[in-house]
Amino acid sequence: MADDTIFDKIIRGEIPADIVYEDEAVLAFRDINPQAPVHVVVIPKKKITGFDKISEFSADFAGRYMSGVAAAAAKLGLKDGYRVVFNNGKDGQQTVEYIHAHILGGRQLGWPPG
Ligand code: 5GP
Repeated sequence: MADDTIFDKIIRGEIPADIVYEDEAVLAFRDINPQAPVHVVVIPKKKITGFDKISEFSADFAGRYMSGVAAAAAKLGLKDGYRVVFNNGKDGQQTVEYIHAHILGGRQLGWPPG
């Protein structure tokens, strides 16, 4: 499969992931190379390659994806806050061509990001 990514393999259960939340729209799992004490990636169960393609989702599914990101963050217990990031394209340093939200938290984050 030419466009198969590591996240396609995770969602098919072909490689393991530390899953922290799942519902009918999303799968959330810990990032293998965490950039904060809590670093979770949330992918939708329907694939698009990146945030720039979000309009390919129905408004209903896009909403359920965003709600799934919020539900995953709530389950992580980040009571002092967190950041949600979509890296997109080369300048955004997107490395996996399967849309994913990063949830980062568990420490004071800096701004602007690098
Ligand atoms: P991007 O750079 O595309 O925004 O984020 C991709 C993320 O996927 C990176 O933070 C990277 O550490 C994570 N990642 C890459 N391969 C794997 C893997 O096999 N398992 C998990 N859990 N995360 C991965």
